Amino acid sequence: MSEFDLIAKYFTRPADCTDLSIGDDAALVRVREGHQLAISTDMLVAGTHFFHDADAYQLGWKSLAVNVSDMAAMGATPKWTTLAIALPEVNEVWLAEFSRGFFACADAFNIDLIGGDTTRGPLTISVQIMGEVPTHQALRRDGAKAGDDIWVSGQLGNAALGLAYWQNKITLEGVLGSAQLEICLSTLHAPQPRVALGLALINLAHSAIDISDGLLADLGHILECAKVGAEIHLKDIPCAAYIKNHLHEKLMQQCVLVGGDDYELCFTAPSNQREMIKQLSQKLDLRLTCIGRVTAEAGLILYGLNNEVLTLASTGYNHFA
Ligand code: ADP
Ligand code: MG
Repeated sequence: MSEFDLIAKYFTRPADCTDLSIGDDAALVRVREGHQLAISTDMLVAGTHFFHDADAYQLGWKSLAVNVSDMAAMGATPKWTTLAIALPEVNEVWLAEFSRGFFACADAFNIDLIGGDTTRGPLTISVQIMGEVPTHQALRRDGAKAGDDIWVSGQLGNAALGLAYWQNKITLEGVLGSAQLEICLSTLHAPQPRVALGLALINLAHSAIDISDGLLADLGHILECAKVGAEIHLKDIPCAAYIKNHLHEKLMQQCVLVGGDDYELCFTAPSNQREMIKQLSQKLDLRLTCIGRVTAEAGLILYGLNNEVLTLASTGYNHFA
């Protein structure tokens, strides 16, 4: 099968909100009046970001979903994506499943695949996403202000627990039932980007980030960009009962503070928005939890379960550390 047949068969579909899609030297899109183009890229490399035998459907979903999550974290509406993929061989069973997963995510968020590149090489998936955000209203990391509440969506730690289990680092017999294990593994393999939340936060929050590398690392990016500090409380960090009550304390902390891949949003908002944020939580049927506040003084202070100050050796995943 030629490269062009492969693109036509697996990656070409009608594109609704695009002037010119796959097939020319470049795609053409139009951004609505009063909006900026938000652009982000994430690369997934076999052996680094996923296992060589990873399920192709889930990999297709995840490679787009992690990019969609970056749009959510900016308060942007995702609209267009490009896919650059290196394949060791043409495996049509794999390609069919991968593209089905990729387009399932594209459909879930109304995104057009408008171009890309296809080459032979070690399995590598590089996805670019583009979206629209009202001019000057994006949720930037540097927008956090001293006195802001710090919020987290959903629950943290499920993906890290799923990964530890998947890698045979821990056994979870007696801790997790099969339904709970399913939640952990689906968070890890098929994350749900919080686009509706990001859009709603445009008028409520000062800053936002998606939690891909772990809460401490990603909140740390906000603090660094905004030149502020924070106090957060371990007891307030939302996590499942099986993480809070059944894991020993070290593992629990690893999962909720350091573990990445949950793709929830962490955001800061002035305290006079608390009521609006609670209403938003109900409207979206999504848990939103205040875990601390932004301080003028730099540094992140973490209070443990007995309100003692905790220090942690590692704050997140770093590919080159
Ligand atoms: P060029 O030679 O100009 O780089 P290509 O032959 O690489 O063009 O690609 C042909 C068309 O197919 C282009 O519109 C390109 O954007 C698109 N394309 C290539 N690979 C992919 C892919 N994996 N997914 C979606 N579109 C792709
Ligand atoms: Mg090309």
